[in-house]
Amino acid sequence: MPALDFIRDDIKAMTAYHVADLPKNFIKLDAMESPYHPFAGSPELLNEWAALLAQADVHLYPNPAAGGLQEALREAFDIPETAAVALGNGSDELIQFISLLSAKPGATMLALEPSFVMYRQNAALFGMNYVGVPLNEDFTLDLPAVLAAIETHNPALVFIAYPNNPTGVRFKREEIEAVIRAAKGIVVVDEAYGAFSDDSFLPLAGSVDNLVVMRTVSKIGFAGIRIGYAAGSTNIMNELAKILPPYNMNQLSLATAKFALRHFEVINNNVLKLKAERERMFAGLSAIGRLKAFPSKANFITVRVPDAAELFETLKQNKILIKKLHGNHPLLDQCVRLTIGSPEQNDAVLNIIRKLYA
Ligand code: PMP
Repeated sequence: MPALDFIRDDIKAMTAYHVADLPKNFIKLDAMESPYHPFAGSPELLNEWAALLAQADVHLYPNPAAGGLQEALREAFDIPETAAVALGNGSDELIQFISLLSAKPGATMLALEPSFVMYRQNAALFGMNYVGVPLNEDFTLDLPAVLAAIETHNPALVFIAYPNNPTGVRFKREEIEAVIRAAKGIVVVDEAYGAFSDDSFLPLAGSVDNLVVMRTVSKIGFAGIRIGYAAGSTNIMNELAKILPPYNMNQLSLATAKFALRHFEVINNNVLKLKAERERMFAGLSAIGRLKAFPSKANFITVRVPDAAELFETLKQNKILIKKLHGNHPLLDQCVRLTIGSPEQNDAVLNIIRKLYA
């Protein structure tokens, strides 16, 4: 029997998460990366960072618990003393292990649709039932539907991206609070885009038994170092700690993240620039009558256009890659998602869109 026959049929039927392989000269606005290398603007910072990396104990296994990053994160982001913190190789890894943690036979995961596709994929991977509650047409939360689904399915795990991907909308805080109160299982508030959103559930981490707040450094300039973190009640986080791989982080990333937090003003300046650019892009897109730009609190804007495939191809011909959402979910009809880039990159996008649709 060929080795392939031993592999789970449900996995063979899956499609891999698509990671674009691009020529260097493309403008990449498909994956919410920052256009700015955080240290590139400063030779001193680059040198200091390089020296730190040169000193990193790459011959030794990392000890994330003792390495100081958790403490630095607590301090930088005011994570309450009562919360326990876990580190993941990207928040993707934390999504995976929190799902595994709650995947008792017959357990249900609840998420919103459309939202981050990896929630559903992990439910499938770990044999959980999946309930996807549709958003309203304007991508706001249908709270009565979510509460009804919680009542009916008693989910072991609820994922809410706050702000949501791929729509950019930040749900109302009171709605998320209602979900946390109603759910008996773990509620993960995924704040991957939290740095751009002016609100956070981190201050509640540790004091609400079923709450886990998840964040990442990926969208604020460090997608390449793969560091995510989660803060929650010790009850949950102690169990999560048992199943995370012991050496899931690496010395170079840990050293880089600690260094970054010591120079947080550089990162924060870039976040502020991107937020200003988001507002400028939103105004520019909203001025074009044939488009509908959805209000975003993230570092991207989702737009409904007359023909998503046409815009995607036109931008691609101009060496700009965006994300075509059309076809992923009925609510995303003719939608595309534009990551906010540098002012020059955004102007390039806006000019092409104006030419097509203004
Ligand atoms: N959560 C959400 C909502 C996301 O959009 C993403 C990235 N697309 C992630 C988590 C994963 O981020 P990372 O693994 O880079 O931390």
